Amino acid sequence: MRKAAFLDRDGVINVDTGYVSRIEDVEWTAGALDAIERLKALDYLVFVVTNQSGIARGYYSEEQFRRFTAAMFASSQVDAVLFCPHYPEITGRCECRKPEPGMLLHAANIFSIDPAQSFFVGDQPTDLEAGSRALVTTWQFQGGRLDQFIEDRLSTFRSTA
Ligand SMILES: [Mg+2]
Ligand SMILES: [Zn+2]
Repeated sequence: MRKAAFLDRDGVINVDTGYVSRIEDVEWTAGALDAIERLKALDYLVFVVTNQSGIARGYYSEEQFRRFTAAMFASSQVDAVLFCPHYPEITGRCECRKPEPGMLLHAANIFSIDPAQSFFVGDQPTDLEAGSRALVTTWQFQGGRLDQFIEDRLSTFRSTA
C-alpha cells in the first residue's frame, strides 16, 4: 500500500483567481512547487484534486483543460491530476465533484493507497468533507508557505500514523 498526498488546486497550489485555465494566469502559491518536490522525496504519491465545472459550463473544453494541465505541471513530479468536469445543474449529479469523495476513492483504488497514511490539503470546507469521506487526514490551508504548512503537519502526522 502506498501513501498519498492529495492537494486541492485553486487556493492551495495556485492563487484562486477563478477558472484558471491559461498558463499565463497561473500564479503558484509560495512554496507550492517545493512542497510537491519534498513530498515526492518522502515517497508520497502526489495528486491534484480539482473541481472543473468550467468544462460543464463551456468556459473551456476538456481537451483544452488537459493541454493546459499538462503544461502547468510539466516541470513538477505530480503523479496525476484528478478533475471533475461536471456541474450538477448542467450535467446532473456525479460522484466526483467535491464534497463527494469519488476522485480520491478512485485514485485510492487504482494506486492501492492506504488512507491512514494519506492526507488532503484543501482550502474549502468541501475539500475537507471529500477528504474525510475518503478516510484520509484533512488539513485546511489558509495561506502562507505551502511547503512549510505541510512540513509542520507532517512532523506530527508521521509519528502518529
Ligand atoms: Mg480550492
Ligand atoms: Zn463529477
